[in-house]
Amino acid sequence: MTAATQTIAPVLELENVYKRFGDQPVLRGINLTVDRHEVVVLIGASGSGKSTLLKTVNLLEQVDDGRILLAGEDITDPRVKVDAVRARIGVVFQHYNLFPHMNVIDNVTLAARKVVGTSRADAERTGLALLERIGLADKAKEFPDRLSGGQQQRVAIARAIATDPELLLLDEITSALDPQLVGEVLDLVRELKAAGSTIMMATHEMSFARRVADRVVYLKDGVIIESGTPEQIFENPEREETREFLSRLR
Ligand code: ADP
Ligand code: MG
Repeated sequence: MTAATQTIAPVLELENVYKRFGDQPVLRGINLTVDRHEVVVLIGASGSGKSTLLKTVNLLEQVDDGRILLAGEDITDPRVKVDAVRARIGVVFQHYNLFPHMNVIDNVTLAARKVVGTSRADAERTGLALLERIGLADKAKEFPDRLSGGQQQRVAIARAIATDPELLLLDEITSALDPQLVGEVLDLVRELKAAGSTIMMATHEMSFARRVADRVVYLKDGVIIESGTPEQIFENPEREETREFLSRLR
């Protein structure tokens, strides 16, 4: 690949991606592009395939057909080095993101030290700056179980961005939190967007999707029914299915 294609290529391209579990089709021909600095939000009922879609991008699930390109490189090619791809993508899930036996700063710096090979001193300097930025520098030496759920998810986000990934995948990162803790986590995502991160996320927080998404993608039974700006999707959906899904949430 030449330097030129790398600059022009979107951060992520899914081309006709299919995935089935046993005889159940879960992703049925997904075509989706995420451009640099773009925030793409997946919405859809439980079971529609949002998590599976995110997992195929992180190579936690193999696609059955189609291709996924990261900065123009086909990461579904069987010859690709899975660890090298994962090192370029930050991931935060709904639950159990932090290593419980490691304190906060060790959690945040682990990937830099073990995967990238940064020295402990350098990794900790960067890690502390990150914790500073998310307002948790005073928790550096605490273990995860001493933090609130919202603080844990903020640390998980700090860990995911510590190695400066090209793409951030966030899967329902607020759905296990008490309602009063959701705001602090979503505020952090908004800050990442302002700082230029490229993000693909699944969420049930429609008000957040409306405020932060550059593009909203409505997934139903493994098919993208409709995608567009938050205004298009929430104010003026073209498809009846989208209208129905949104009206059931109100
Ligand atoms: P969502 O995140 O939108 O709720 P998922 O991607 O988790 O949807 O799931 C989509 C469908 O795939 C569901 O029917 C789910 O039960 C099924 N599924 C997900 N992961 C697996 C798996 N590892 N094995 C079998 N079926 C799975
Ligand atoms: Mg899910």
